[in-house]
Amino acid sequence: MSAVVLDGKQMSASLRAEIAGRVQSLKEKGVTPGLAVILVGNDPASEIYVRNKGNGCREVGMYSETVALPGDTDQAVLEGEIDRLNRDPRIHGILVQLPLPAHLDEAAALARILPEKDVDGFHLLNAGRLMTGEAGVIPCTPRGALHMIRQTGLNLSGLEAVIVGRSNIVGKPMAALLLRENCTVTVCHSRTANLAEHTRRADILVAAVGKAGLITGDMVKPGAVVIDVGINRVDGKVRGDVDFDSVSAVAGWITPVPGGVGKMTITMLLQNTLEAAERMV
Ligand code: NAD
Repeated sequence: MSAVVLDGKQMSASLRAEIAGRVQSLKEKGVTPGLAVILVGNDPASEIYVRNKGNGCREVGMYSETVALPGDTDQAVLEGEIDRLNRDPRIHGILVQLPLPAHLDEAAALARILPEKDVDGFHLLNAGRLMTGEAGVIPCTPRGALHMIRQTGLNLSGLEAVIVGRSNIVGKPMAALLLRENCTVTVCHSRTANLAEHTRRADILVAAVGKAGLITGDMVKPGAVVIDVGINRVDGKVRGDVDFDSVSAVAGWITPVPGGVGKMTITMLLQNTLEAAERMV
């Protein structure tokens, strides 16, 4: 078997065209959706992500603002910037680029963002809404991954979903989303005994670990949907958590890295910002 490749670039392009149309409609009502990204310090990977977010905004006609703060910024200054953006009517979405330098309190910074402007979906209120099934902002990466899973056309209800990784930004919200789709969800992590025994049961397998090539073909059920969230730099190349060659020979569907979930994450950020602006009109 050779898996169907779920193409994040193609899916993003059609979603972005739809987003651009809705941005245009809002502009005709006098509102331009706006995203502000706060970047503290000069981590090169974060700088690239922030630049890509700004480019994404321009592509769909949104306003974007980057607040670049020095690496020694203190908590009060950071929170002062968040307060200013909370009050700014041009800004509908605020994102604090993570990770923050170690001396800053990440949880306190995220809690400071108005929940309705929290387009990353990391505020405790939005995390709680996702867990309890109420409408709220869904974190971008799991939202993008779910969109890709839906493109298979499978009826997700009753399927076995196994998520490898339990972070607050990917693994846990992914589990909540798939539970909402009526999947039977297993979450694996660094202390899981016999990882392969779990992954081999998965009709839907999501890898969000940060270990290049961790998931190999012998760990995958034939015909499964395999979603690779991992972004790992190996010898100057970007690789996922999934060993593409051996897994694509077994799986039914697979996402590539690059060109898979990563591309969808920024598209979902644009979607969350658009929806935040639509709710505020
Ligand atoms: P994290 O470091 O917060 O969490 C990693 C998780 O993997 C932990 O829950 C840990 O328990 C688990 N884990 C570690 N080793 C394991 C092992 N051997 N077996 C099973 N589980 C193991 O990472 P994160 O922020 O969730 O990110 C995970 C990966 O996804 C990283 O490569 C990151 O760069 C990538 N990422 C990609 C996007 C995207 O847009 N594509 C977005 C966010 C994160």
